[in-house]
Amino acid sequence: MLKPILARISQPARYNLRNVLNTKAVSIILGAAFVFLQKALQMAIKDILLLGNPELYKTSIPVEESELEALMPQIERMWDSILDIQKTYGFGRAIAAPQIGIRKRIIALFIKQPEAMINPKILEKSAEMFELWDDCMSFPNLLVKVRRHRNIRISYFDLNWQLHEVFLENEMSELIQHEYDHLDGILATQRAIDSQSFRWKV
Ligand SMILES: [Zn+2]
Repeated sequence: MLKPILARISQPARYNLRNVLNTKAVSIILGAAFVFLQKALQMAIKDILLLGNPELYKTSIPVEESELEALMPQIERMWDSILDIQKTYGFGRAIAAPQIGIRKRIIALFIKQPEAMINPKILEKSAEMFELWDDCMSFPNLLVKVRRHRNIRISYFDLNWQLHEVFLENEMSELIQHEYDHLDGILATQRAIDSQSFRWKV
């Protein structure tokens, strides 16, 4: 449609018009991409259920091997949520399926790469405990002082349905205890050491 119009315009003017059209097209595309990304970002964060939502207090059920493939889009949604929380709030390594309204025993992690633990089980907990200020994507501005086991041994299935058994210490240990609690409908707020164990993030 542009060709007959462009043919009637002199060479330098045609070049300029093309440039203007290209710049306009690029800015429209970039603008649309920005709006889309912004919406996608807000949506992934909006997907996360917040403190007080009754769904967060329910127990999740184990995943069957046969339903894992159908659950992959939900697991990808969990990875997206972790990345969005990291970008927006500067924290977040893992999320549990009930936090996006899926009552299945799945923990998604995004530390160096996307990973998932399906049907995790805590096999052993150390007697030694430690205290920490815990955060959660379901209450991103609140910190809660909790006590966690120093070490745990867990088993879980990966996305290829291979069974793993691992020993976790300190940071990884408390992270998985936090996520595992979500699968049993327990939030860090319920693990608060005492009534003074709440702090607003600034
Ligand atoms: Zn949490």
